[in-house]
Amino acid sequence: MKNIREDFPILKKMHNSHRLVYFDNAATTQKPKQVIDAIVDLLENHNGNPHRGAHILSVEASRLYDEAREAVRKLINAKYGEEIIFVRNATEGLNLIARSYAETRLKKGDKIVIPISEHHANLVTWQRVCRVTGAELVYMYLDGEGRFTDEDLAKIDEKTKIVSFAAVSNVLGMKRPVKELVERAHRAGAIAVVDAAQAVPHMKVDVQDWDCDFLVFSGHKMLASAGTGVLYGKRGLLNDMEPFLLGGDMIEYVREQTTTFNVLPFKFEAGTENVEGAVALHAAIDYLEKIGWDNIEAHEEGLTKRCLDGMKKLPYIHIIGSTDPEEKTGVISFTIDGVHPHDAATILDSYGIAIRSGHHCAQPYGAHIHAEASNRVSFYVYNTPEEVDYFLEKLPLVRKQMGFKD
Ligand code: PMP
Repeated sequence: MKNIREDFPILKKMHNSHRLVYFDNAATTQKPKQVIDAIVDLLENHNGNPHRGAHILSVEASRLYDEAREAVRKLINAKYGEEIIFVRNATEGLNLIARSYAETRLKKGDKIVIPISEHHANLVTWQRVCRVTGAELVYMYLDGEGRFTDEDLAKIDEKTKIVSFAAVSNVLGMKRPVKELVERAHRAGAIAVVDAAQAVPHMKVDVQDWDCDFLVFSGHKMLASAGTGVLYGKRGLLNDMEPFLLGGDMIEYVREQTTTFNVLPFKFEAGTENVEGAVALHAAIDYLEKIGWDNIEAHEEGLTKRCLDGMKKLPYIHIIGSTDPEEKTGVISFTIDGVHPHDAATILDSYGIAIRSGHHCAQPYGAHIHAEASNRVSFYVYNTPEEVDYFLEKLPLVRKQMGFKD
């Protein structure tokens, strides 16, 4: 995959006299020329307000927006285009489900079940649903390696109305048994919500095969620009839900005191749409599909294995969760004995290596495993084995610079 690096202008950037090594892809990804060009082409040649005018630019913007929706439908194999709702990001998608589905249906005595490792977007949202409805938020605490236990799975019972989980955890990088969790939710009479923010960018996702009721992801984590995400929902569920945001384009008729709503997907897309974001996502999907999902998975697994093998040789490094590369996408979170994660990230930055430090938006999990903060490296299509080796060469210097004599 080396030759694709040429497509990413930012990868030529020098930092502290080193070529930038970007290992913070779980936070956001870099953009290839093809995506940048698609945005520029829209703004230079086709910019209009979609679905609102008879003139050429509105018609062209509408066509590009609709084509992007169809590309997303195919990407995740949704049955109908109406099931694809463009939102700002995964976070907004989860808020939409919480407000429009959960808050109006749940009641005291009901349960929402989530893993303790969830991103705040898939946790704080449910806390409010519980506060508003009286339902209970129940956690699956996982075992020491981040896997589900029988005790966890038994929490999905007949009182459960929603099971929500990341298909790939942004802290553990572990791929979750999505089909099994969805099946358990359905057997209990609950719906299954899949946070696919770290899954759709890295693997072939098929919502019909998973049979999930809702799924969300963000364009910026898969080479597209920030500000465009996707909510997938089964058509029947979306049709039964009240819109989350009210305003232009989501209406059918507005009278002085009452309004009827537009059909799907427009019912959930109030206000002027982010056409450049949708166009960028379309270009990103085309780009990733050209590489191929099997190639992407194999590439990330190779980098992850190489990195884990190197890290395991350092006794003061502790990897969070499973260390089996087959169980993971390209995300490795870790702590370094005696070194604050922020110091580690700052020292590595001095060598031009960008890694994450902090709580990774998963504070309850950090508290649960007694690692409030940690470091994280995360790979994507443009990263190389040479970059991993460079990181492994510099990693021991972190402890040296902090005064340890290893
Ligand atoms: N869920 C997971 C698993 C994530 O990794 C992230 C982003 N770190 C989100 C949700 C939220 O994504 P966004 O900020 O794009 O809404």
